[in-house]
Amino acid sequence: MKNLIILLITIGISIISNAQSTTYLHCGNLLDMTTNTPHSEMTIIVVDDKISEVQKGYLPPMDNIDIIDLKDYTVMPGLMDMHVHIEFESSPKTYEEKFRYNDADIAFRAAKYAEKTLMAGFTTIRDLGGSGVNVSLRNAINLGYIDGPRIYTAEKSLATTGGHADPTNGVRDDLKGNPGPKEGVINSVEDAYKAVRQRYKNGADCIKITATGGVLSVAKDGSGPQFTLEEVQAVVKAAKDYGMTTAAHAHGIEGMRRAIEGGITSIEHGTMMNEELMELMKEKGTYYVPTITAGKFVAEKAKVPGFYPSIIVPKALAIGPMIQNTFAKAYKKGVKIAYGTDTGVSYHGDNGKEFFYMVEAGMPEIETIYSATVAAADLLNISDQVGTIEKGKYADIVAVKGNPLKNIKLMETVDFVMKGGVVYKK
Ligand SMILES: [Zn+2]
Repeated sequence: MKNLIILLITIGISIISNAQSTTYLHCGNLLDMTTNTPHSEMTIIVVDDKISEVQKGYLPPMDNIDIIDLKDYTVMPGLMDMHVHIEFESSPKTYEEKFRYNDADIAFRAAKYAEKTLMAGFTTIRDLGGSGVNVSLRNAINLGYIDGPRIYTAEKSLATTGGHADPTNGVRDDLKGNPGPKEGVINSVEDAYKAVRQRYKNGADCIKITATGGVLSVAKDGSGPQFTLEEVQAVVKAAKDYGMTTAAHAHGIEGMRRAIEGGITSIEHGTMMNEELMELMKEKGTYYVPTITAGKFVAEKAKVPGFYPSIIVPKALAIGPMIQNTFAKAYKKGVKIAYGTDTGVSYHGDNGKEFFYMVEAGMPEIETIYSATVAAADLLNISDQVGTIEKGKYADIVAVKGNPLKNIKLMETVDFVMKGGVVYKK
C-alpha cells in the first residue's frame, strides 16, 4: 500500500513537471546575434526555460499560450558582464566594512546587488573575486531563493604576498596573520596548485589572478608585476585540470606579458597594453575585458576628498583615464574583446554604461552588443547555452524601447528582462 502511494505520488509529480508553459514574444526588431543584421516583426517561441523556435511574423494567439508584446522594442540576448564584484560596492566606508561586516551582512547586500544587475538586463555575470559569499549567492540564485543573474564566480582572487588581492594589505600587524593558498595568497608553483585546488573545492567556476598591482588596494604601486611566469603557468595548468578558465587583472606591461605568455584566458583592464602585447594576445587568442567604466569612475571619485584613502588617489588619477584609449587601440588592432565593467568599483545596476564608452572610443554599436553576448559566452565556454537567440538556448532575452544601433545610450535602460523563460521585468 505504502509503495503504491509513493508510486502514485511519483507519477503525479512527473505529470506536473511535464506540463509545458509556452510564451510567444512578438518582437518589432530582433537582434538574435547569429548575424549582425536585425530582423523586423518576429516571434520567439519560449517553452519552459528554453527557446524552442524563432519565426517570421507575429504568430496569432492560441489557448494556453502567453503573448508578450514587444512590437516597439529591440529584442536581444540577455546581456553578459565579464567583470563584476557582486559582493561589494565602492564607498568611503569600503575599507572600514572589512572589519565590521560578517558574511551574512555581505550576503544580504550582495543579494540586492544581484537583483539590480538582473534588472539592468544582465542575465549572466562573471564575478571576479570576493570573500566566498559569492559562491553561496550563485547557489541561492540557481535554487530560486533570490533573483539575480547566472553567476560564474572566481570565489577569492589569487595574489602574491602584498599583491593586489592580498586580503591583509593595509591591516594592523597583529590582525595580518599569515594568509596562504587557502586565502588565495601564493608564493610558488606549489602554492599556485594548492590555491587553485582550494578554489575548486570551495565551488569556484573560474580563477582570477592579480598579475600586477591595482588601483584600489592599500599599496603604493599599481603597475608592477606580482607573479612570476612559472606561477602564472602553474595557475593556468591547474585551472585546466578542473575545466576552469582564468582571468588576469593587469595594468603594467611586464605583469601583463607574463599573464598572456602563461596562457591566461582574459586580460582585465590592460591599461598600459602596447602594440607588441596586442599582437601577442591575437596570436594566443587572449580576450581583452576593458572595464572603461571602472577607469572613469575611479578617476572621478579620486577628486572627491575622502572618497578613497590617500595612498589610492594618485594611482586612480594616473591609471583611470588611460583605459578608454587603450581599448580604442586594442579594438583597432583586432584583439578579441569581451564586455566587462568592474562593477562594484562602480555602482551595481550601471553595468550598461560601458556600451556608450566603447562606442565613444570607436567601436560600432552592433559590435559592443556582440561583445556582451556572443563574445562573452565564448569567453565563458557556454556558447552552447547562451549568447544568441536560437533554438535550444536558454531563454535569456532582454529588450529596449527604440533602436540601440542608433542610440547606444538606450542600453542603460533595459525595459524587459527574461531569464530562463521567467519574466523579471516588463
Ligand atoms: Zn575587478
